[in-house]
Amino acid sequence: MRYQNTYVNLDPRLYNRQPPVPLNNPRVGHFNTQVAEQLGWTEDSDLMTRWVDILAGHYLPAEFEPLAMAYAGHQFGQWAGQLGDGRGLLMAQVIDNNDKRQDLHLKGCGLTPYSRMGDGRAVLRSTIREYLCGHALNQLDIPSSNALGFVVTDTPVRRERVEAGAALMRVADTHIRLGHIEWIASFAPDLLSEFTDYMIDSCYPECRDSEQPVLAFLQSVVERNARMIADWQLIGFAHGVMNTDNLSITGSTLDFGPFGFMERFNPAWINNHSDHSGRYAYQNQPAIGHWNLNVWLPHFMRLTQAGVTRESLDDCLSVYEPTFMQHYQQGLCRKLGLPHESESLRLAFEFLTLLEDNLLDYTNSFRALLAIVDAVNYPYEQQLLTTLIAELTGEALSVWQQWHKRYLLQLQQVDKQQVLTALQNNNLVYVLRNSMAQRAIDAAEQGEFAEVERVYQLLANPYQVQAIAVDSDSTAPAPNAVQQPISCSS
Ligand code: AMP
Ligand code: MG
Repeated sequence: MRYQNTYVNLDPRLYNRQPPVPLNNPRVGHFNTQVAEQLGWTEDSDLMTRWVDILAGHYLPAEFEPLAMAYAGHQFGQWAGQLGDGRGLLMAQVIDNNDKRQDLHLKGCGLTPYSRMGDGRAVLRSTIREYLCGHALNQLDIPSSNALGFVVTDTPVRRERVEAGAALMRVADTHIRLGHIEWIASFAPDLLSEFTDYMIDSCYPECRDSEQPVLAFLQSVVERNARMIADWQLIGFAHGVMNTDNLSITGSTLDFGPFGFMERFNPAWINNHSDHSGRYAYQNQPAIGHWNLNVWLPHFMRLTQAGVTRESLDDCLSVYEPTFMQHYQQGLCRKLGLPHESESLRLAFEFLTLLEDNLLDYTNSFRALLAIVDAVNYPYEQQLLTTLIAELTGEALSVWQQWHKRYLLQLQQVDKQQVLTALQNNNLVYVLRNSMAQRAIDAAEQGEFAEVERVYQLLANPYQVQAIAVDSDSTAPAPNAVQQPISCSS
């Protein structure tokens, strides 16, 4: 691997250098060969033969320079002060085979000075959810962390019950969160300028070409976050804990906790068991993204020499909404296989209303549109369409029929093959339903990882009907079933 550890050269107040605390009797959970190849990990036999020991903290390659990063954050809208990283170490930084910078970060690696009341560990349950979801989003080209792999161990971890401990080697373009700046503003404000330079040089080097690199950087952070959240909305993803400490400065999905993918369409759906007010409900994510950036940007006011003023920060933030809207609306039209124009958008929003009013499955309903265009060559989708129509009665059925007629009319303007390609490439067959992740977890807790592998393979190719699929992979929960929220404990 091409190592380039640079964080370790920053001011030592920003981190604590330390090795991981070893876990007992580590065993293979899953290894992501695709990520390993991208990193150049596979080219090093020492790394390949000892990867389990590395993830379990039993062996530290000479080039690794592990450190725990200090950061802070706003949790559920409240300033929470210093809070991370209590259980993750930045192990090494590398340049991957695409010449991109990547952080290797070990989650669940034991106590650090920032652990507060925590034990520094991660449970197998949440490790598997994070592992599968990072993989899923990467396969969809939605900016996200991914992982090299995870190990399961005999080290017991106490949450609501005693659970198996695990460690995940996360890979991301950065582990700097909005909360890093909040930490600096509170505890080491003299470092702001140097740290901003570091963020620009390591994550946004193209901003150096601008006359005002700091403002160009801040605007890019706003844009990337807006686009990421638009991607989430389009795929039906709810992050669950959009605290400022869980948002990366590169607009890349980070820190998977009580996340979920929309099943029966209910925009007010809350997947986080602790989110009593619904602050992080699916439909609130775009506004929360704006809220987070709005509390974050003013920290840069002290960089007056870089041209930062209250007005210039307002200008940066003002690109959020149009960026989000453009990306989201274009994506919605693509999901209908239509060009981005007003009638396509009307159809898209009416389709969403139909899904909401009748609690139809988000993923399956969009995929079913393929059968409207070509029923003969899409038997799987024809089945989905039949299921969709069977769930409509009375008034809803006539709403659907009218919508269907207008959709057909709009389709006539576009080349059929183009429509099919767009529908196929923008509407999933398989999404990581909570029930799928849970089945993989239940088996893994019994020492059986074949289901993790099967779901991993399914999500590697989510736009294709696959022979390894089972019915429950694409079955919506019963219409009256409450989508069970996920515990925050991890
Ligand atoms: P989260 O809500 O999972 O994003 O957690 C917020 C912060 O709390 C993280 O940055 C961690 O550093 C810390 N944390 C979470 N769980 C633990 C744990 N079991 N032990 C120590 N620190 C933890
Ligand atoms: Mg977190």
